[in-house]
Amino acid sequence: MQDQPEHIAVVGAGHAAGQLLVSLRQRNYAGRITLVGDESWYPYQRPPLSKKFLLGELAVERLFVKPPSFYDDPGLSVRLGEEVGAIDTGAKALRTSRGDVVPYDSLVLATGASPRRLGLPGADLGGIHYLRSIGDVEAIRPGLVPGCRLTVIGAGYIGLEVAAVARMLGARVTVVEKLERVLSRVVSPAVSSFYEVEHRAQGVEFRLGADVLGFDGSRRVAAVRTSAGPVEADLVIVGIGVAPNTILAATAGLATDDGIVVDTRCRTTGEAIFAIGDCTNHPNPLLGRRLRLESVHNALEQAKTAAANLCGEALEYAQIPWFWSDQYDLKLQIAGISEGYDQTVLRGDPASRSFACLYLRQGRLLAVDAINRARDFMQAKPLIAAGAVIDPALLADANSALQDLPVISVRDS
Ligand code: FAD
Ligand code: NAP
Repeated sequence: MQDQPEHIAVVGAGHAAGQLLVSLRQRNYAGRITLVGDESWYPYQRPPLSKKFLLGELAVERLFVKPPSFYDDPGLSVRLGEEVGAIDTGAKALRTSRGDVVPYDSLVLATGASPRRLGLPGADLGGIHYLRSIGDVEAIRPGLVPGCRLTVIGAGYIGLEVAAVARMLGARVTVVEKLERVLSRVVSPAVSSFYEVEHRAQGVEFRLGADVLGFDGSRRVAAVRTSAGPVEADLVIVGIGVAPNTILAATAGLATDDGIVVDTRCRTTGEAIFAIGDCTNHPNPLLGRRLRLESVHNALEQAKTAAANLCGEALEYAQIPWFWSDQYDLKLQIAGISEGYDQTVLRGDPASRSFACLYLRQGRLLAVDAINRARDFMQAKPLIAAGAVIDPALLADANSALQDLPVISVRDS
């Protein structure tokens, strides 16, 4: 077909890459595709890794974006367990860890992100884990047994989801976080406090405002040294954030800036090279700025956008970000980015375990955290996208429906 590259190469076989293949097929892309991924699994979903898969309630096959039979396609070459080491943009070719050269007409970088690591004394002792892949969970599981002493470092998404699963499995859990409150990067103090109370009620201990100084033990970890004293540990899981995988792109001369720089159509600064998912720094016209997101929604939507553009349609990506987190029986759903808020409004009583926190800036709705309150999450999304101004007193009435409230103004009105 005109306008379509004959051969698309994709680097990274994660969630975004999996969706890209699905979207290219849905659009009847007729050329060849080569997918190169350094992990040994077909593209899979990571969210269950810190939830039901870690709990042992989900079979590995349920993680895959598509079953293996999907890749049984003469136009598709899948190279797993192989890393791309370099891109020759002049020759339009990739060099892989097996020494092979893979030419391309168009290239999609879907290299994701990697866990930040602790470079502290004892950090290479046995029993200290990060959590990003199926392999990581397989390494963690044998040690996560009833009565084991688990220290979780970082009270972000991974830290709190792992703490919840570990308590459900009967482990004794201590969470160490350098800041004074949990989930501080993403939620308001009221929501942080709610989650801390819930975890404490489940038996989780916290060392907040504590720096990790190192690890003690011979061969295996026995204790975590912190500024608030030592914490005995049989197992440690570190969740202190991620860094985007940009080295490949930067070495090839593409612009990077806390992520591979792309435009609204997922095009990088390199000719015929796109980037999607966690590795990108992209503009969001609805937010009026560039950002990097670490979320499934972003990975899927950028994959769909890149597929459309590869097939000749000038589709732009402009959506309100959203996220979720499952801890115990609590479903947290977040829409929008709360950064820069100057007012919060609570809808409902946290003690009821079903409430929402709305974030406003100069009266305009920026974001919502909905806890066991899916209706507020759904109804807030279009209001956030519009930049709606609504009387805060009305927003606070938990018996009202957000979609029925009178909107005073919307953005640019
Ligand atoms: P990835 O899924 O990281 O895939 C990138 C792939 O590229 C990796 O396999 C990587 O090894 C490979 N790669 C990198 N460089 C090369 C190279 N040079 N050659 C070959 N291969 C390469 N998001 C949510 O929205 N909700 C959640 O509840 C949620 N839970 C999560 C739980 C966990 C434990 C984790 C780790 C993440 C979670 N996320 C969640 C985040 C979400 O999984 C990511 O945003 C998503 O996986 C991003 O997809 P991606 O394809 O961009 O990157
Ligand atoms: P995260 O959500 O960024 O949280 C990391 C937390 O650890 C932050 O509070 C961070 O504080 C803190 N921290 C950093 N350095 C520390 C240190 N030395 N000691 C103690 N605490 C420290 O990242 P994450 O939980 O590691 O998750 C990793 C990735 O998986 C992210 O992309 C995340 O979005 C994704 N994920 C998402 C979900 C979800 O959406 N439900 C679930 C699991 C994982 P600072 O902010 O100050 O650095």
